[in-house]
Amino acid sequence: MCGIVGFTGAQQAAPVLLNGLQKLEYRGYDSAGIAVLDGSTITVRKTSGKISNLVEKTDGGKNCRGTTGIGHTRWATHGAPTDINAHPHISNNGKYAVVHNGIIENYLELREELIKKGFYFESETDTEVIVHLLEMYDDGDAKKAVLKTASKLRGSYALGVLCSDEPRTIYALRESSPLILGIGAGENYFASDVTAIVTYTKNAIYLEDGEFARITPDQVEVFDPSGHTVQKKISRISWDIQAAEKGGFEHFMLKEIFEQPRAVKSAIEPRIRDGNVVLDEFDVSARYLQGIKKIIITACGSAYYAGCASKYAIEHLCGIPVETELASEFRYSDPLVDKHTLVIVISQSGETADTIAALKEGRSRGAKVLAIVNVVGSTVAKMADWVLYTWAGPEIAVATTKGYTTQVAVLFLFALYTAKKLGRITDERYASLIRSLTSLPRRVQQALDMNPSIPALAKEYHSFKSLFFIGRNTDYAAALEGALKMKEISYIHAECYAAGELKHGTIALIEEHQPVVALCCNKDIADKTASNIVEVKARGAEIIAVAFRGDQRILSLADHVISIPKIETMFSPLVEIVPMQLLAYYFAKENGCDIDKPKNLAKSVTVE
Ligand code: GLU
Repeated sequence: MCGIVGFTGAQQAAPVLLNGLQKLEYRGYDSAGIAVLDGSTITVRKTSGKISNLVEKTDGGKNCRGTTGIGHTRWATHGAPTDINAHPHISNNGKYAVVHNGIIENYLELREELIKKGFYFESETDTEVIVHLLEMYDDGDAKKAVLKTASKLRGSYALGVLCSDEPRTIYALRESSPLILGIGAGENYFASDVTAIVTYTKNAIYLEDGEFARITPDQVEVFDPSGHTVQKKISRISWDIQAAEKGGFEHFMLKEIFEQPRAVKSAIEPRIRDGNVVLDEFDVSARYLQGIKKIIITACGSAYYAGCASKYAIEHLCGIPVETELASEFRYSDPLVDKHTLVIVISQSGETADTIAALKEGRSRGAKVLAIVNVVGSTVAKMADWVLYTWAGPEIAVATTKGYTTQVAVLFLFALYTAKKLGRITDERYASLIRSLTSLPRRVQQALDMNPSIPALAKEYHSFKSLFFIGRNTDYAAALEGALKMKEISYIHAECYAAGELKHGTIALIEEHQPVVALCCNKDIADKTASNIVEVKARGAEIIAVAFRGDQRILSLADHVISIPKIETMFSPLVEIVPMQLLAYYFAKENGCDIDKPKNLAKSVTVE
């Protein structure tokens, strides 16, 4: 988790580092720190809490002089989020400073070994072993010390290192945690992702696992794990800084909710040509697809629910069974996967540790892997056999919105593409579904415009301690994501249940005035859901229904109705989730929650 950033150039480093950390704060925000090198003096400033505390502590960076430095915003894994556990960590002789994203799995044995050798530990972090190893292996050549230290570490890490013997130099290493280098004019950078550096440069180098870089203001050298120089390509970053700023919205989450018509359009439109779905990046033969007996979609959190939301469309259109598996379970489940299985992994950041492991698991059993990812050049994107990018643009709010809807959109494209390639859909049905798919951005916009009463609903219900979300089939899939959204940002316990399953136990929890959010956009089973609404109403529940505009029956049953425009049933989760995102947002706002940075969470979960 966490964000790291490094800078070396002619200007003062601290303001650049603080600015970069602010952009990365969504990745972790329980403490933060910077280390700046001035000549051969390293100054460290760190503090628990948000980056704003660090900005205050350093007077915006003014009391931390030097033109070379490294910074960190932490999501604690080892040790509480205290000042002492905050990064950077410093070697006992004061010569090395380190920032680290990830987990050192063998830190306990290394720690014991180092303590025996007389090293003194200040923090409880796994990270601190790194800085003492650097000191131990230092024989006057920092590059060698870095190399030797890296060879001792097991686990995942992106590291930034300063050495007081090498003024104006930073080292950056990666192993299973994201890291990119930014190439400027007379100044260079490293960072966990592009948002931290895109203000300064659009030229980037993507490091591979095991590679490390020595960076000075005029030179960036990249080495392999044995220290040999590697020639790297400089790529152009296509995101601009406006895309990573709030643009007048109170929160990134709200901005990103309202960006969805455009984001969904970017995911769909370029892939529809002459009335056909064209997936240049997944250009497989019909023969390969005919050999696929099963599709496994594996992912975490909302990305997993995106898989659930598309399962119905894929099965229905392609006639291939789809299993959805949580990545953290899949990897340890001894899964039945072979070359006749297509594994689809989904990850906004492309750095989700469990998803990466699931990807490796699928491949090791002979399956090919299709990845659905937002961040270009991310680990998942690089490891998969094929990548379909979601083109959502930078997503900063920790709770995903446009990340989720664009994933669902891409999965729908996949469903139609595969059905056509397998010859399992009639031309008329195909043409009609292409029309529905291309109308989705417009439908999302209408869903946003149709519901001005959501803030008032939030005012009425925000103080309840628990909520139920119910639905069947596609509605159930959307309800799962709706409940997750509510939990993660408003901290209200939201239980999602398949509407027909409620009576098998959970209905015991329904009491007078219990709010139940009922999703009723699947017309094929609307009668059944309506019966379940009646059942909970009979026990005193108050119903907030999500239904197609003008659905008279639901209007007569529900206490409140949130409307969405009519849409092809199998595509409906992509639209019905939109008002639920707004519902969660306004509940969280009423409850005074930190919407863009909910407690205990981080955007990109790079630990197991
Ligand atoms: N494992 C390290 C710690 O707990 C780094 C965590 C992070 O990636 O923020 O300090």
